[in-house]
Amino acid sequence: MNYDKNNIFAKILRKEIPCKKIYENEHVLAFHDINPQKKIHALVIPKGEFVDFDDFANKATEVEIVGFFKGVTHVSRLLGLEKKGYRVLSNIGQNGGQEVPHLHFHLFGGEKVGKMVER
Ligand code: AMP
Repeated sequence: MNYDKNNIFAKILRKEIPCKKIYENEHVLAFHDINPQKKIHALVIPKGEFVDFDDFANKATEVEIVGFFKGVTHVSRLLGLEKKGYRVLSNIGQNGGQEVPHLHFHLFGGEKVGKMVER
């Protein structure tokens, strides 16, 4: 799948639409999900143009990969999620239920997150 430069997270990265920003550095942007599924529901996205985790793992440089993962854990600590635990989740493609085609990790926490997947 080719990267769609008009996806909503690309627009957020270009500051064409606002977000409730949590953190930003040269590698990542983190913001609160517009439709939170748990008390804390954050999204962390890489700044590069990657459709999903598969695309990222195959095409990103090692610097981008390390930067992204360090960014995710930094955001989890900013939100205090590491104290009681949390869930990281990334949907990939149609069967994964991905809606926005720019890689994002969901961070869920602030309360028990519940079952891992629906049956
Ligand atoms: P996914 O289904 O994994 O692609 O998740 C996309 C997520 O992006 C959903 O949880 C949406 O609520 C969230 N979302 C969509 N638009 C925005 C936005 N403008 N700001 C913040 N979160 C958004």
